[in-house]
Parts: sequence; C-alpha cells; structure tokens
Amino acid sequence: DRADYDEEVASVCPFCGVGCQLSFKVKDGRIRYVEGLDGPANENRLCVKGRFGFDYIHHPHRLTKPLIRREDAPPKGLNVDPANPLTHFREATWEEALEYAAKGLAELRAQKGTYVAGFGSAKGSNEEAYLFQKLIRQGFGHNNVDHCTRLCHASSVAALLENVGSGAVTATFNEIENADVALIIGSNAIENHPVAATYFKQFARRGGKLIVADPRGVGLGRFAAHRLQFKPGADVALLNAMMHVIVEEELYDADYIARFTENWEEMKTHLKGFPPEKMAEHCGIPAEEIRAAARTFAKGRAGMIFWGMGVSQHVHGTDNARCLISLALMTGNVGRPGTGLHPLRGQNNVQGASDAGLIPMFLPDYQTVTDADIRRRFVQIWGGVWSGEDFSAEKGLTVVEIMDAIHAGDIRGMYIMGENPAMSDPDVDHARAALAKLEHLVVQDIFLTETAMFADVILPASAWPEKTGTVTNTNRQVQMGRPAVPPPGQAREDWRIITDLANRLGLDWSYGHPREIFAEMKRGMGSLDNITWERLEAEGAVTYPSLSPEDPGQAVVFGDGFPRAGGRARFTPANVLPPDETPDAEYPFVLITGRQLEHWHTGTMTRRSAVLDAVEPEANCSMHPSTLRKLGVEPGGMVRLTTRRGSVEVMARMDRAVAPDTVFIPFAYVEAAANILTNPALDPFGKIPEFKFAAVRVEKA
Ligand code: SF4
Repeated sequence: DRADYDEEVASVCPFCGVGCQLSFKVKDGRIRYVEGLDGPANENRLCVKGRFGFDYIHHPHRLTKPLIRREDAPPKGLNVDPANPLTHFREATWEEALEYAAKGLAELRAQKGTYVAGFGSAKGSNEEAYLFQKLIRQGFGHNNVDHCTRLCHASSVAALLENVGSGAVTATFNEIENADVALIIGSNAIENHPVAATYFKQFARRGGKLIVADPRGVGLGRFAAHRLQFKPGADVALLNAMMHVIVEEELYDADYIARFTENWEEMKTHLKGFPPEKMAEHCGIPAEEIRAAARTFAKGRAGMIFWGMGVSQHVHGTDNARCLISLALMTGNVGRPGTGLHPLRGQNNVQGASDAGLIPMFLPDYQTVTDADIRRRFVQIWGGVWSGEDFSAEKGLTVVEIMDAIHAGDIRGMYIMGENPAMSDPDVDHARAALAKLEHLVVQDIFLTETAMFADVILPASAWPEKTGTVTNTNRQVQMGRPAVPPPGQAREDWRIITDLANRLGLDWSYGHPREIFAEMKRGMGSLDNITWERLEAEGAVTYPSLSPEDPGQAVVFGDGFPRAGGRARFTPANVLPPDETPDAEYPFVLITGRQLEHWHTGTMTRRSAVLDAVEPEANCSMHPSTLRKLGVEPGGMVRLTTRRGSVEVMARMDRAVAPDTVFIPFAYVEAAANILTNPALDPFGKIPEFKFAAVRVEKA
C-alpha cells in the first residue's frame, strides 16, 4: 500500500554523482519505500539503486555501539564476522571509545605529527568532509588527508585545473538538451550514471548525434551515430587522431581559439604526427571511422564531452583528459549553451568533498596549501592550529602513497571515515597488509567493513538517510540532505563524532548544527557565495557559481574567459604512451575493472540491500564468446584470474560487449575482490592508479 506511511522526507540519493532528489516514505521509524522528486538533475527519475537501495540502513549488521579491539583478539585480518564482531572487539561507551581513539592518535602526534594520516569520505556531507580535513590540518599540522577522488577523477581534475583553471564541470549534463552533438567516452553511463544516461538517450532520440567511444560495447552505443570500440588504453591515440583530422580539414574554430586559448601553434604542430591512418591499428578502429567521428563532432553547432573512469583510471589518465579539453577548445565547445566538458563524478559527494578540501594538495575551493597567504587565512578562520602559527606547506600524501608510507614506517596511525581501502585500493593485499601494520587505526563507519576489521577502535556512524547535511553532485548543484530516521542504537551523526574527537585532541570546536559548519565553510570558499543554508532548505538545490541571492546558479561557465592567467585556457599536447604493464605470454589478456548497475563500489551498502543483492548475488566477470571458447569455459563456469599481484576465482559470463582477450570484473565482491588483481602504478599528475588495465591470465577453475 503506497499510501501507508506517516512521513515523507525530501533528500538526495546516496549513491552516484548524478544526485537525484528523492522522497523517503517513513513509517514506524523505518523507510518503507522511495520515490523520485523533481530535482534539477533527475526530474522525478530514479534508477534501481535509488529506488531499492535504501534498506541497508535497517540491516542487522549495522554498528550500534562503539567497539574496541580485545586484548586477546586474533591477529588483524579479514577474519571478523560482520554479524558477530564481539569475537574480536568488545563494546565500549562513547566516552571510553573516543578517549581511546584520541589517545592513540595523540601519542603518535607527540612522537611526530606526520605519523598520522586520514581518509575522509565522499559519501558523507560537505560539512563532514570539511571538518575531517580541518581535523587533520588543524589537529596534526600537515596535509596527509585524502579520499576516494584519488581513485576516481583525480587525473581529470589535474588536467582541468592545469588547462581550464577549475576542476569542476563547465556545464551540467542536462545542458545536453541544447547540444546537437556529444562525445561520451570511457563511460558506461547506463550502468554507472543511469539517470544521466536517460538524458543522453533522449538527446539521441531528438536527433542529437552521439559519439560513443569505449573499449566495451557499452549500452549507449545502441543510440550512437558513431560507435568507436577502441582498444583499452588507446584514448590518446584516438583523440589525437580525431584532432588531427579537425586541423587537417580546418574544422576548428579559429575565432574561439584566438580569443580564449593559448599554445595553439604548438598543439597544431604536435597533432601532425597522429594521422588516423597511422593510429588506426593502435586504436583497433579503421581510419575512416575515426575521420567520420571527428567530422561529426567538429561540424556540430554545440557539442559536449562526457567522460568516466575509463578515461581517468590510467597511468596516462591526465593525458587522456588533456586531449578531451583540447578537443573541446579547438572546436569552441566551452562556455555556450549546449557545450561543455563534463567528467561524470562517481560518488554522490565526491565533487563536494573535493571542493571542501578533502585532498592533500588543496584547501577548500582548490586553494593550494603551498601558498602562505591562503594557509594564513584558514588558520585565522580556524582560530589557530595545534602545531603553532601555521601548518605544513608541503602537499600531503595521496591514498596509494599513504599505504606505501605505512609499509615504510612513515605513517603509523590512521583515522578512516566511511572509506574502505581494504577493498577499494589497487593491489589490495598490499593495502590490507599496511592496515594490519598500523599501530593505531580509528575507523568510523556504519558497518564492520573490511577496513574496520583492522581497526583498534570503531565508532558507529550514521547512514545518509539518518543525517542532515549538504552534498554537491556532478553538476555543481549543492543540495540539502535531510534525516528520515534516527541512527540506530548509539550510532551518531559523523559531524558530531569528528567534533568530539577533535576536542579530545585539544582543538576547541563548538558546533551545534551542520548549518554552523556550512557558515564557516562559506568564509573560506568563494564558490559558495550567495548560497546559504536557508536557501538550500527552501530551494533544495543551488548550482555554484550563483551570481546573486536569487540566481539558481550557472549551468554553463566560462563564456567570457577562464580562471587562468590572461583568462585563456591552454592546449597541452599529449603523447601516446603504453600502459604500465602489457600482456605477455604469461599474462596474455587485459583486465578491466568497474561497477555494475546494482552494486555500489565495495558492496558495503548494496550487498545488504535485499532487492539489489537478489538481482546480482554473485561475484562475476565477463568475457567475449571467443575468449570463453579459447579457454574451454562454458558461460556460468568458474575461472581463475591471476595477475602479478594475486588470484581470484569467479563465475564467468558471456558478454559480446567485452572485446576479445579482455576480461571485465566488477569490484563489489569481497569473496573475489577485483583489487587483489589491479595494478597500483600511478598517473604522475593525478596520482590515480591504473584500474583500467592490467595483464591477466585466465584459467578454468
Ligand atoms: Fe541514485 Fe545515481 Fe541512480 Fe540517481 S542515477 S537514483 S543518484 S544511483
């Protein structure tokens, strides 16, 4: 009975960066069901995760009391039953757990401030992300704080900051309704940003020309005018070849280039070396198809470019994004309605958490930690820092670097909130060994995650439908999240836990409500000008930048220049480079990891959602029929996947969308953790690992 609820609460979906607004229907303290609301990014639509992925909050595995590791607990490892953590932990009061957590961190701080690092979360609110980075910087005096943006779009942001001057999207994805051509590359949007994909499909249905480029034959290809299934890792070769055609056939926008860009001559010269005929074999696509796609994009009246982690998660991810930026600039496709660069953000609040400074090289609003004036301004806002008058000017370590630093003995304690590196890091056995080595690990989460299994103290936190806070989606839309139900048992809202811990570390915080944290953020973040808590409560969403208290925000930015010196964007040429490891006789296939529609990242929430887990209950990988035949494996049979890092056994599916001699594996399943296999080699600029290319051996299990 859909009328059978006592209360409806307007909030935002906790899964992907689309940021669909929804309504929780609540009865007797439980969410009964969910409906889409008319938010700016979703217009009442929801995907299967938004609609059915809410009951995890009522799951019996929820952490409801603080836990401290027992003195007689077995050695740290993935050896705890989430249904029965008391084999390894004992229950504690909040007072005792917070004291214990703070004491261990303070002892390490007293030895050397940089012994402690923090991972915050893109699944919490903006206010929580802000507080978390503030705790590390103010409380420990350095910048060793990061979150999963490092595994997501760090390379895209590096390229955008370098060449455009801003890390956020230049246009909302909804702007596609004003475009007549769009390139979607390295993104399986139908599964990963499903509601955004509905806009892409409608665009094609109206006659818009979609160019879908991906090593997998992704579903959006069915709607495409051009479908380019290029070889894994050949992004730069393909994009340089397309740009070569645009230069050769003089399809570029000379006026735009002259007015708004720099380094064009060098770019033009560079592109001479990449004719499609020379790149065709590298890309695995006939030269004429590359030429045709280039012409379609360049001849469009208004074009947009969307990309996902197929572009960013490479050791040359920043180069890939540089090419996309150059393609948009040379065709004059930034700053007008229906144009723009749009990296589709993964987590619901990865944009907001990055904006809030939850990254090791930037304070809020991407203000560099190396600038003394900027640091001084934040020290002033915070009322001082633990270590004296300033905090470190040195950029902090990133996610993967922190794990290496633990092994090297340079990091000995961590505070991890809402992240699960024991599942999400590349070469995850290396990360798990690092977590086991920590002298003091504080984990704040809603479940006993694989990471929490390594903790010394666990602080039970709140799920998204249990908290008040703002989130920022892929469109730069700041939206208001509201609590539908209280946290279970003694679990608390994360901002309260961070505040309590900060005060036990000697900081003097006194927040009474997230709106007070938001007000403090506004003092250091120009992006939030004209966006107030009251507006968000009344309007539900405001896009930044907002030019006045009445302005709903700018869907398209940079129409009159870029936030770089001279107001010009830059062409940065990129060369074709190999992946970090290439297939050979021992490891002859290519492994690509990713998500699937029903499960979210490391599976912590969606594998505890009854409908989603019923639809996709089993660890799996996908291969082309020819690959399965070659291996003598029937669809549904088990295979062993082995890389230079380790092995997993997993059920094999037949999927014609996967290229021959390639294996696709989702990373949500702990029983066959894809990241046991992945390569931790990093892009030198964004420090993102190469999740999208590893050499793998496949055998019948
Ligand atoms: Fe949630 Fe993303 Fe699905 Fe929207 S598209 S309902 S934000 S998972």
